[in-house]
Amino acid sequence: MGQTYRVLKIRIPWRLVEERPDVLDLAVRMRLAAEEYVRRLLKEITGQEEPKLTTEELDRLLTPDRRELARRIIEEVFSKYGLGRCFVKQAKTFWRETAFWRAIPLNAQLRVENEKDVSRAVFVDLRNEILKVRKLGVQPFIIRLRRQTVEWIRERIEEDARLRLAFLGIERQKGKKGPTYGKLYVALVFAREVTPVEPRALVVVDVNRLDHGVAVGLLVDGKLRQTLRLIDRDVIKTLRRLHEEISRLEERAARETDPARRSFLESRARYLKSKRYRKIRGVAEQTAGEIVKLARKHQAAVVVDAMDYETYSARKQSGESGDRKHLYDGLGQLKRRLQTLAQWYGLPYLEERLYSTICPRCGARMVEEKKRIMRCPACGFTDHRDRVPLLWAKRRYWELLQKTKQPAFSSTPTTVTLLTS
Ligand SMILES: [Zn+2]
Repeated sequence: MGQTYRVLKIRIPWRLVEERPDVLDLAVRMRLAAEEYVRRLLKEITGQEEPKLTTEELDRLLTPDRRELARRIIEEVFSKYGLGRCFVKQAKTFWRETAFWRAIPLNAQLRVENEKDVSRAVFVDLRNEILKVRKLGVQPFIIRLRRQTVEWIRERIEEDARLRLAFLGIERQKGKKGPTYGKLYVALVFAREVTPVEPRALVVVDVNRLDHGVAVGLLVDGKLRQTLRLIDRDVIKTLRRLHEEISRLEERAARETDPARRSFLESRARYLKSKRYRKIRGVAEQTAGEIVKLARKHQAAVVVDAMDYETYSARKQSGESGDRKHLYDGLGQLKRRLQTLAQWYGLPYLEERLYSTICPRCGARMVEEKKRIMRCPACGFTDHRDRVPLLWAKRRYWELLQKTKQPAFSSTPTTVTLLTS
């Protein structure tokens, strides 16, 4: 058994933020305090200024004997940011969680029917479709929940998940004159006990570029049973159009001499960029959902072709992909979502380098004969480029299946990414 987590991020409406500068101020102080606490704690433990740690490494470092150290740092740091007793108490109790999530956990209650309100800081009332935030030393505020949000929570309850804790969060944008703090949200962390599935098959995913679609193969008993290409042509078309429009606006803004006109063009470009971002997020969400559904149906482990990071960033920045750069943006998101979703359902998740240019029959380097059709000069093997990684997975089936059986579960959040419903 292990704990898995999914996070729902609920945006605080802009109007409320404008009316309540005290909420914005509090969220900024909470974030700065949490970050400083983590930085100081890790520096004391590792001796390094900004250690890059994986969740597993962090898990090993935060042993019970570090608790007093953590508590002392919390006392010192939190008072500096004017955070009262309730925050100190929460952070001390959840000193490990505070470090993992880099945010101060708030206690939370979910009311599904008529349960008694037990005065937690975050109160999610499904029946009245509202969320209350209170007891934080500022005037309470209420967010109305969207239908979609309520449905998402109900689905999690049906999966026996429970609301474990919440965060008041704020997004930070990197700017030329230092960071600026913008959108506010409340994040709800749902936890679920899960028994890891003993995999009986593999679902292999080759992600390379959004507009080529995502190639998926189902492998059972070492045979490629089914291949799918997940792609939504309409969305791809929309993305391309958005991209062209953004580029045009940015070019015009760069040439524009009138400051007012220029700022108008820039804000229009920003608006379209966030629209594009939402679209990409939508594609990643839907695709991950379909892949995990297939994996659950066949009790399969999810194996993702891990393009190595250098190839990924080179492609993202290269001239070849200059105008297609945005099509790589969704890939990291897709992987994170796949991992979170697979773990949520107890399915093993593995990232593995699978070749797309090396012949799966004889191992020779292949050449691209026609657009995306690969051919092996040594043995004559030929197939679509996106199928090659799937054939490699077929060839390595038993080894990969064995690898996915090694326990990768820990009781700590594996991804600290915040997912929206
Ligand atoms: Zn060959």
